[in-house]
Amino acid sequence: MLKKNLSKGFSMHIDPQLYRKAFQAYLRKGTPIEWSIKQERPTTHYIWRTRGDDKVRPSHAVNNGRVFAWDDPPETGHPGEDYGCRCTAEPFMPSVDEFIEIELADTEDSGAAWSSRDFVRHYYNGRGRGVTVRETGHLSRIVAQYMTSTVTKSLQDNIAEVAREHPNGAFSDVFENTYDMTGIVFSIGDTTIGGRFTGNCVAEFGILTLSGQFEFYLEDEFADPADVGMEVVDFGETIYENIHRPLEDYLRGRVGLRPTGPQRLGIHTGEPYSITDRWAGSFSGQILADRARSRFG
Ligand SMILES: [Zn+2]
Repeated sequence: MLKKNLSKGFSMHIDPQLYRKAFQAYLRKGTPIEWSIKQERPTTHYIWRTRGDDKVRPSHAVNNGRVFAWDDPPETGHPGEDYGCRCTAEPFMPSVDEFIEIELADTEDSGAAWSSRDFVRHYYNGRGRGVTVRETGHLSRIVAQYMTSTVTKSLQDNIAEVAREHPNGAFSDVFENTYDMTGIVFSIGDTTIGGRFTGNCVAEFGILTLSGQFEFYLEDEFADPADVGMEVVDFGETIYENIHRPLEDYLRGRVGLRPTGPQRLGIHTGEPYSITDRWAGSFSGQILADRARSRFG
């Protein structure tokens, strides 16, 4: 890929006059070249160009056509820094089809989808036992909803941002936010999804190559059967009619009481329970090190 870029040729050049001026300033006043042409550098890297004649010193001839970073000079120094050097730095514009691909794993459901009634039933009968989202049959849809373009984009940007801070080595970060999942299953509603990613970055010629892993978690709680989203007209009466009454009738049947009576049975208590899950993912990508030219970060 790099060879291809090199052979394409480039139209942008550091003005040789400008460079010569900077070099003169260095010779006469000691103004560091590094500083004086900094403002004129359009790229992070350059291609070393010699004049190609027999006056080029061998150590510079070796550099001809190679790409160097402005912040990581070769042993010879940058072009023009050595006394009498006529070599020039041709801006090198790294080019890559940027991408950060996120792949999720372990998001399969392990049971049929619970209805709101199932969530309420578990509130009354589950004795507070926590459930996993996949157990309620809603994980894959919640994950799909979570990974809508905005979250995917923000995760990609997050990765790019942290990777640029660690262009050669390991990087990691954590993330967490609250999402409205009522469109998927009302009983889960506003839920917290977060996680962390760890990755590795290799920088070469202005391009960062990334790869790493994700760990996601979801944390929620079912604490109130009023969460189920039944249409509440008369709050107390609706809850009574839809939840307590059928249970009461059922219990009355079990203990041999008449289906209706003046006294309500003590069946109002339920146990809040946690709704949680974990899943994994991986990512890989290539992005430009130069944030200003990148579509990530
Ligand atoms: Zn030279």
